Amino acid sequence: MGNQLPYDATMMPTELKRNISEVDRRIRAAEEAAGRPAGCVSLLAVSKTKPSELVRQAHGLGLRAFGENYAQEMAEKAAALADLPLSWHFIGPIQSNKTSVIAEVSDWVHSVDRLKIARRLSEQRPDGKGPLNVLVQVKTSDEDSKSGVEPDAAPDLIAAISELPGLALRGLMTIPAPATSQAAQSEPFRQLKVLMDHLSHSVPQLDTLSMGMSGDLEAAVGEGASIVRIGTDIFGARYN
Ligand SMILES: *Cc1c(COP(=O)(O)O)cnc(C)c1O
Repeated sequence: MGNQLPYDATMMPTELKRNISEVDRRIRAAEEAAGRPAGCVSLLAVSKTKPSELVRQAHGLGLRAFGENYAQEMAEKAAALADLPLSWHFIGPIQSNKTSVIAEVSDWVHSVDRLKIARRLSEQRPDGKGPLNVLVQVKTSDEDSKSGVEPDAAPDLIAAISELPGLALRGLMTIPAPATSQAAQSEPFRQLKVLMDHLSHSVPQLDTLSMGMSGDLEAAVGEGASIVRIGTDIFGARYN
């Protein structure tokens, strides 16, 4: 935030509405192309860097779930929009000194990749809020990425996290390296699906695959995504 370009404030409600309809249309078309049931993929609107007023407008247009990368920014928006029935998904890298705010504010966390962080989230989840839904972030094609557990190490991490009382382990997430063809985009998503199917033998509650962004949602839905995380194609480009 703190960026002075006026685009966010002036994004026209008609433009936001058109963007949301177009993303919905793409998701439905991809479900149909893959022979998956209509409506089986849910849309997470990634609102990072965008003002809470824009999130309020998006709620008015039917969106309920919003994704954020920075703990403090998520907490501020959740407070500003506390009158609305929204669900907040934390999708960014997690520093240990931010786990308490993440555990308090989030309904879901997609980016758990270390046991230490999972333990803190579990301990710091407020009583009465119910277990925090978590996904384990797995490194697929992007070898340079600092985030995500290596696929080989995922089974042990998943087994340990599944024991934590404050967390409800729900599935896996990945952010592949950018690729242009749909075939190349599909490969890491297929790998994540295979890994989850494998893990489901020992951890049967896994039911969620968070994969697909603005540029590759069709490939992700084709390989079994249950949540796609869309920022740019809903709220426009980010300038910071
Ligand atoms: C920013 C971000 C997104 C959204 O990316 P777009 O390309 O703008 O749709 C999705 N997932 C994560 C983890 C992100 O950080």
